[in-house]
Amino acid sequence: MTLSEMREILKTRDLQLTKSLGQNFLHDGNQLRRIVAAAELSPTDKVLEIGPGLGPLTELLLASGAPVLAIEKDARLATFLRERFATTANLTLLHDDALAFLQRGIAPRLPGAAVTDATAADQPADWSTWKLVANLPYSVASPILVELALHPLRPERMVTTLQLEVAQRIVAEADSEHYGVLTLLLQLHYTSPGYFRIPAGCFFPPPDVDSACLTLLRRPQPLLDQRQTQIFVRLIKRAFSQRRKMMLKLLKSEWPEEALHAAFAQLGISPQERAEKVGLEVFMEFSKLLAT
Ligand code: SAM
Repeated sequence: MTLSEMREILKTRDLQLTKSLGQNFLHDGNQLRRIVAAAELSPTDKVLEIGPGLGPLTELLLASGAPVLAIEKDARLATFLRERFATTANLTLLHDDALAFLQRGIAPRLPGAAVTDATAADQPADWSTWKLVANLPYSVASPILVELALHPLRPERMVTTLQLEVAQRIVAEADSEHYGVLTLLLQLHYTSPGYFRIPAGCFFPPPDVDSACLTLLRRPQPLLDQRQTQIFVRLIKRAFSQRRKMMLKLLKSEWPEEALHAAFAQLGISPQERAEKVGLEVFMEFSKLLAT
């Protein structure tokens, strides 16, 4: 879909774009193809697309032969997509808030009819054989990625276009500017071969922020069990609750001082250390100690 085709659709249907829904549509064919290539799709994959918009990415995803579940919050766009893809059996389109849909934890019906209703699903969601491929609405990109990453049956791959700064936070290393809770929540379950930048001019209208497409690959085995993971999440959220404060002081509100001192000593962490200096491995070992 070219920029002039996009403009024509928006004009003909009198569609005013909504900034709060992050409606910056990607019209650059090369960038769209790069995103799809990063997903390494085969017809046996299942694809989750969040925020299909006018469907430029959806079209390429469907061309891979894989079934696509697309969730669009804007009713006007959902109506347009229903018409555009009316004869496409491989597409399931939900008009819903994707974050709310994921939080409800129910499975979509696939492949089924081309158009279905969000309330029709009733099985618990299992995303473990799915790939998320999406140009995400920037305002909800982080919560959507965290929701999927922390799901016990998380997607095998996530290829998403994000605000550049969010991509940098996800791949950050300890003791760097972007390192924090988002880094650790995603890196616990995913590794990343990296991201590529997408110039603002590739979108209509161009966003005010820089963008990048990030690939995340699920780790072959979970590094922590379910209980340890719960403690890991509590631990890092508390440890980073005040970035400039010593971690030990912050953690005292949640765990007995004695257990904390013992863990700090065993892990070789200085009592003066701040969370931003502590790496993923140490937080993992810390969670295991607190779980015993
Ligand atoms: N995929 C299209 C593209 O690449 O041109 C559109 C991407 S645009 C950045 C984000 C899309 O997400 C918009 O179509 C917007 O309406 C939709 N959206 C925003 N918030 C959403 C939400 N919570 N759930 C589902 N879709 C959402």
